[in-house]
Amino acid sequence: MKSVIHHCDFMPNEGCQIEGFQSDINNALEWTLVFYREATEQDLEESNYLDEEGDYVWQASLVITFCPYCGKQLAHKVQPIHKSDFTYEDFRSW
Ligand SMILES: [Zn+2]
Repeated sequence: MKSVIHHCDFMPNEGCQIEGFQSDINNALEWTLVFYREATEQDLEESNYLDEEGDYVWQASLVITFCPYCGKQLAHKVQPIHKSDFTYEDFRSW
């Protein structure tokens, strides 16, 4: 799947990323705000499923139309997002 990153001066350098995925249906980019936490030494001690520092402890994402940091319109068309496409994954256990 082809994807592009929204590089933004106003967002934190770590902990989140804004990524656009090309949809198979109409070739339009679907933009997603992904936020995550990277493992620290303590996380590694508490979980057997994390291998090294920097591994994702958890990751969550949601579909967006505008960049929440700079306000730029990312999606080609402004339209309501009908399906609530929130995801949350926890990598500390299976
Ligand atoms: Zn932005």
